[in-house]
Amino acid sequence: MSTAEPVLKPDFSARRKHFIFTDEHEQLRESIRAFAIKELAPHAAEWEKTTFPDSVFRRMGELGFLGLDKPEEYGGEGGDYYSSLVLAEEIVNAQSGGLAMGLAVHTDMAMPPILAFGTEEQKQEWVVPAIKGEKILCLGITEPDAGSDVSGIKTRAVRDGGEYVINGSKTYITNGHRADVIVLVTKTDPDAGYDGFTLFLVPMDAPGVVREKRLEKLGMHASDTALLAFQDVRVPETAVLGQVGKGFYHIMWELQGERLIGAAGCVAGAQRCFEQTLKYAQERTAFGRQIGKFQVIRHKFAEMATKIESARQLTYTTAWRFQNGEYPVREISMAKLHAARVAVEVADECIQIHGGAGYMVEYGVERVWRDMRLNRIGAGTDEIMLDVIGRSYGL
Ligand SMILES: Cc1cc2nc3c(=O)[nH]c(=O)nc-3n(C[C@H](O)[C@H](O)[C@H](O)COP(=O)(O)OP(=O)(O)OC[C@H]3O[C@@H](n4cnc5c(N)ncnc54)[C@H](O)[C@@H]3O)c2cc1C
Repeated sequence: MSTAEPVLKPDFSARRKHFIFTDEHEQLRESIRAFAIKELAPHAAEWEKTTFPDSVFRRMGELGFLGLDKPEEYGGEGGDYYSSLVLAEEIVNAQSGGLAMGLAVHTDMAMPPILAFGTEEQKQEWVVPAIKGEKILCLGITEPDAGSDVSGIKTRAVRDGGEYVINGSKTYITNGHRADVIVLVTKTDPDAGYDGFTLFLVPMDAPGVVREKRLEKLGMHASDTALLAFQDVRVPETAVLGQVGKGFYHIMWELQGERLIGAAGCVAGAQRCFEQTLKYAQERTAFGRQIGKFQVIRHKFAEMATKIESARQLTYTTAWRFQNGEYPVREISMAKLHAARVAVEVADECIQIHGGAGYMVEYGVERVWRDMRLNRIGAGTDEIMLDVIGRSYGL
């Protein structure tokens, strides 16, 4: 007598967990999600008009969310890199791209170089209160005349006895109006090529730091974006972050973590938009049936899901390599490029599936499109990502 063959049926609603994540990551995921839905999302619409308040940093500091992957000795949670991916993914439930960006600049752009290259005093002065949410960080690379071409920046830091005098300007600086300190990229030796750059930690209340315009934008309205001027700003030599002359390499390293976190945020943002639109397609009817039952709409979902999944797998596998000590610049560039494109394509398709509702502010999909559009520009444009990838093959 033969035993009956088990009948295999796909279970599309089964709970999935990628192998990089543990049960602890999943618990963290739940608590960040609950916090974002309960305490942040209800204010998202209002913060589009006012930008989100500094109290969000303090609250997230209290909850331990600003130092998830940071060392315990500085007040962090001592988690792995994946825990910061979890934050980048779950914070999309706040429904505010601008808020997610402001936080990511603080935790994953400005803080890592201080931890990696800073002195013990610098870490105590800036990282410890930043993890508590009591001090806010920003990062200044871009200038009015140089963005993609970082080597073309003009902000100069000139040594004068035991001090440096800084002159120049930075633009599009996220958190620039609220920050307590800026990780500032300067040129200290214009004749030394890539070896002529130095990073500084400049307190934003130092005499000569001018917070100029609050810049208006297409999206990310909940974030503040500043044009900054540095006019004869004097800082002691203890404000140098990392090695004098090695700032270019330090900031290129920083950009890798920033890009990967950005990719994770894009995947999660696209997924959230997909789910919201799926619900809409199951409720909205036309010509006597749910619009999701039209094959053309069903296929749009299939295309979107496939794109999101490919971006997710690329991001996770690259994160796994990063966490395991590799420096996978090519794959990080691929993940950043692909995830940003996917997020914009998905948001655009979600507007289409919503029809006229998609064009209305009320449904929030148009905001996702506007917010996501930045990701093809910020932290290195699509074209720069393509160039990094192409050059990695010796071309
Ligand atoms: C909302 C927002 C927030 C931002 N936050 C910050 C921040 O906190 N800190 C910060 O330092 N910066 C920030 N930026 C700046 C951002 O990183 C830059 O805008 C981005 O790097 C592009 O630089 P750019 O704007 O000068 O464009 P450009 O470098 O002038 O590029 C213009 C166009 O030329 C293309 N291009 C340039 N060089 C090449 C090349 N070699 N090959 C092919 N194409 C090329 C670009 O891809 C782009 O399409 C922010 C920007 C925005 C919009």
